[in-house]
Amino acid sequence: MTDQDIRLADLLEAMRLDRIRTKLLAFAVVIAILPALATAWVSYASNKRTLRERIAANLEASAQQAARETDLWFRERLHELRVFASSYEVIENLEGSRRGSAASRTQIREYLGAIRGRFGDYLQLQANSADGKVVAVTPAGAVPMTIEPSMATQMRGYEAAFGAVALDSTGRSTVVLAVPVAAANGRVLGFIAVRLQLGDLADALAEFATAPSGGSGGGSRLLLMQLDGSVTQLKRATRGGPDSVALGSLLQSGGGASEFVDRRGNRMLGAVAQMSNSPWFAVAEVPQATAYRELNRLRNVASLAILALALALGGVGYVIGLRVVRPIDSLTRDATGVARGDLDVELPIVGRDEVASLTEVFNDMVQRLREDRRQIATMEEQLRRRNMELEELSITDGLTGLRNRRHMVAALDQEVDRARRSKRPLSVLMLDVDHFKRLNDRFGHQAGDAVLVKVAGLIRAAVRGVDAAGRYGGEEFIVVLPETDQRAAEEVAERIRSMVAGGVLLEGGDAPVTVSIGIATLTKDGGEAAEVIARADAALYRAKAGGRNRVEVSGGEAVESA
Ligand code: GH3
Ligand code: MG
Ligand code: MG
Repeated sequence: MTDQDIRLADLLEAMRLDRIRTKLLAFAVVIAILPALATAWVSYASNKRTLRERIAANLEASAQQAARETDLWFRERLHELRVFASSYEVIENLEGSRRGSAASRTQIREYLGAIRGRFGDYLQLQANSADGKVVAVTPAGAVPMTIEPSMATQMRGYEAAFGAVALDSTGRSTVVLAVPVAAANGRVLGFIAVRLQLGDLADALAEFATAPSGGSGGGSRLLLMQLDGSVTQLKRATRGGPDSVALGSLLQSGGGASEFVDRRGNRMLGAVAQMSNSPWFAVAEVPQATAYRELNRLRNVASLAILALALALGGVGYVIGLRVVRPIDSLTRDATGVARGDLDVELPIVGRDEVASLTEVFNDMVQRLREDRRQIATMEEQLRRRNMELEELSITDGLTGLRNRRHMVAALDQEVDRARRSKRPLSVLMLDVDHFKRLNDRFGHQAGDAVLVKVAGLIRAAVRGVDAAGRYGGEEFIVVLPETDQRAAEEVAERIRSMVAGGVLLEGGDAPVTVSIGIATLTKDGGEAAEVIARADAALYRAKAGGRNRVEVSGGEAVESA
């Protein structure tokens, strides 16, 4: 494994994705959500494009319609004004008033008053002389309109001039328009100015705005603006709209709709159209939130649907995961038990799927393990018993059933050690059957063997359980007596000697079988096992030399037979 694999494994573990159940769950959710998300995204994007195109087309149409309407309206007003300005009454009387004729002034005022009476949109009319002095105002007593120097300059070039737009005290929107008055020789005599009420225009524009050529994109509005970004206030104060920079960029997009952020910080979609008879622009705009409201609602519904789908499939995945994982979990638990040595398990097999097969295999395996364990236990018991038998055999003399020489030497070593450590007495008897060769020669080897078996039985009967008796060689025996001093050893030896002499009779034999016995007791200064045996041997030699059928003590007097 590389470092990366390890890190990935850690990550999966942290997300619990190393669990089968979680994997299934994640898989279900992913395959459910990915296609749904992709479809929703594609449809959202294409819907948004289509909707935006439609709204853009509507906004463009609205702006152009408004521009056309406004243009037409102003063209008519300007035309009317020019007609009045070129009328005989105005030209003659303006010239007359220049010469100081009060009658001329009165005639102009009356003429202007008559016009105002006929045209409801004309709130106020005024005639000025070329040097800007007010010649006549109607209605009488009205505050004269201010003609800006820029307007005067424009009119000296025979052009019409637009003045300020204002809301009056009743909330009506008005604009000042002025046209030059020229004499027949072309000299500018003065100008006629009118304060026009924009109410009709506002009504017409409002209609386009609320219903911009049908369908979606409702909620849009129309503004009349100037290049400096000021909004022409129609009917009531209008807030927002693009600032001069945004207006500039809208103009640059060549009449097509584009997105911008308005003065109040709202994200808008808008289109602009230019006019030829006024210095104004028609702007149609709609907040993006309004434009895309339906789309966003669709997006939210789709998101909810996808979420519900994910939850439902997640739930299904979870249930399936649970069904798959639960048997595996119990398999794992029981396998752990088996690994620890608990073979008392039998899993129920549910269904016919892979997990069921696995469970079956598992049960078989455990069953086989149980059998194997039983067999091993039986074999172990047999082996143990056999080992014990072998052990017994290896230390037993085949003929007499007493311990053999090898065992007796080892046992004596141990007893000598123990006696020295505990400072307790220990005695050893060496026994030898008297004239055994003769006995063999007379009665045969089998009879000799029977005598050996008989003597061995007597020795075994004469000693305690803690004592150890063994066959040391052909017709020689050895007895190790722990916790036994010389006196007690002499008693045991004497008991054996008398039992043999009084108890072993050969069939057809004329004399009893006898044994000679040598005794050695461990001295206080100690000594090795070999040395103790040698001393017992020496005592035995003396017993033989002393006439046999007797007990001799190493380093002591011989004990005469009774
Ligand atoms: P002593 O009184 O001096 O001990 O005389 P002995 O004849 O007993 O001694 P010796 O060592 O001369 O003879 C021992 C005989 O024991 C020699 C051998 O044939 C016989 N013998 C040794 N082992 C066995 C045995 O296992 N079975 C039989 N039947 N005879 C044995
Ligand atoms: Mg012998
Ligand atoms: Mg002998």
